[in-house]
Amino acid sequence: MASTPHCAEHLNAESPFSSQGFTAKSPRMTQALLTPDAKLAAAPVVEAAAQPGGQSKKVFVKTYGCQMNVYDSERMGDALTRDGYESVDSVEAADLVLINTCHIREKAAEKVYSQLGRLAKLKKQRNAEGGDLMVAVAGCVAQAEGSEILRRAPVVDVVIGPQTYHLLPEALNRARRGERVVETDFPAEDKFDGLPAAPEKSIRARGVAAFLTVQEGCDKFCTFCVVPYTRGAEVSRPVDRIILEAERLASAGVREITLLGQNVNAWHGKGAGDREWGLGELVRRLAQINGIERIRYTTSHPRDMDEALIAAHRDLPELMPYLHLPVQSGSDRILKAMNRRHTAADYLRLVERIRAARPDIALSGDFIVGFPGETDADFEDTMRLIAEVNYAAAFSFKYSIRPGTPGAGMEDQVDEAVKSERLARLQDLIAQQTRAFGRDCVGKVVDLLLEKPGRNTDQLIGRSPWLQPVIVDAKLGEIGDIVRVRITQPGTSSLFAEVVE
Ligand code: SF4
Repeated sequence: MASTPHCAEHLNAESPFSSQGFTAKSPRMTQALLTPDAKLAAAPVVEAAAQPGGQSKKVFVKTYGCQMNVYDSERMGDALTRDGYESVDSVEAADLVLINTCHIREKAAEKVYSQLGRLAKLKKQRNAEGGDLMVAVAGCVAQAEGSEILRRAPVVDVVIGPQTYHLLPEALNRARRGERVVETDFPAEDKFDGLPAAPEKSIRARGVAAFLTVQEGCDKFCTFCVVPYTRGAEVSRPVDRIILEAERLASAGVREITLLGQNVNAWHGKGAGDREWGLGELVRRLAQINGIERIRYTTSHPRDMDEALIAAHRDLPELMPYLHLPVQSGSDRILKAMNRRHTAADYLRLVERIRAARPDIALSGDFIVGFPGETDADFEDTMRLIAEVNYAAAFSFKYSIRPGTPGAGMEDQVDEAVKSERLARLQDLIAQQTRAFGRDCVGKVVDLLLEKPGRNTDQLIGRSPWLQPVIVDAKLGEIGDIVRVRITQPGTSSLFAEVVE
């Protein structure tokens, strides 16, 4: 996974994984699988509204990138369902192709353009046969490129940025009337207010673990990252909307929610008695909802881990003992150049406080190697920090330039061969720690949330509190059950467990 973050934080939180249709797979996959180059895949499970004449419109949604994009695709899918669309699992079967893009990877925009080139051929063929194909581009590449997409890719009908998804149905209507539409403003209204709530059937089809976006955007301006430019300033969704959505999820059978935000622990809002709440208070409130048994959140910035959130880890069994807490580098010089606004020692002290509150917590991180100016000594500082923290998992990438970010103009860009060598060493250390973490789990008694069928019909896959997939005998329970098991053996990417008598 040597690659290029402009925001490695978001390659996790946002993570790396397969594309999907607007019915997301389990959120946990984002942690478990690190296969950034998504393949086309869509999950056709939403119910289509009947169209006049008995025909339904068909949409193929391809989602790149992070959990937040998966969540956004689900919500856009809900809006399209209300508008009469049915989800299909191939471009060929679609009347509308919606690409929800991610700007995190190197040359992200160029990859989108080459994909659009393939769609242009398909559209030409359709037109020759008397049919048509509409194409909409959403997500961070849409935000960054804007009308440039219309200029370079005549096949595109609609360009829609991450903050204007509620305008998608109207934008498609305008496109049907012949307009080519660009919607990339940051409107004052909450886009989620303008999107329909997911129908219960869709929630059920998406599984027993669900995403819930509570915060968007970022004010931190790390010098390697484009998120503040593509997703805009930090915005928190109001408490009542979040609670309502969590209650809807719970009543449709969801047992676990993962709260999402580019800077999720910067979330704040007015809670009971008009008191200002932070994420810790919000998690306490959500833990009271009947049916919600497990809560996770991602991605966090070290500077926003406040006492209330740490105390929530101490007090709430519903808050899972797994925390993704990116640090990026162990060198204070590089952290300063990255504008992280904390030192390595600050981070280590924070980890100590979190572990004092919740001793069994597992940590994951993000690392960028070869940031401009990184010397051998800086890199060794990073290796020392990793050795000291002892991560359960981590995402790591070679630095590469993201146009428009301060890092792009920095001198002392590090040689590619040096970056590769450092990345290999770092990933080797992380892999050792991850294996050791898996081995240490053997013999432990844990609660598993059974999430989906296993590869074999006599197996189910559950998720441990530490986000590991665990394979168990299907006779152990039903999907959605939380069962107590003993971990018996580590596998390459999952664990095995047996029932505790
Ligand atoms: S904190 Fe903000 S700027 Fe920094 S990496 Fe995360 S999203 Fe990007």
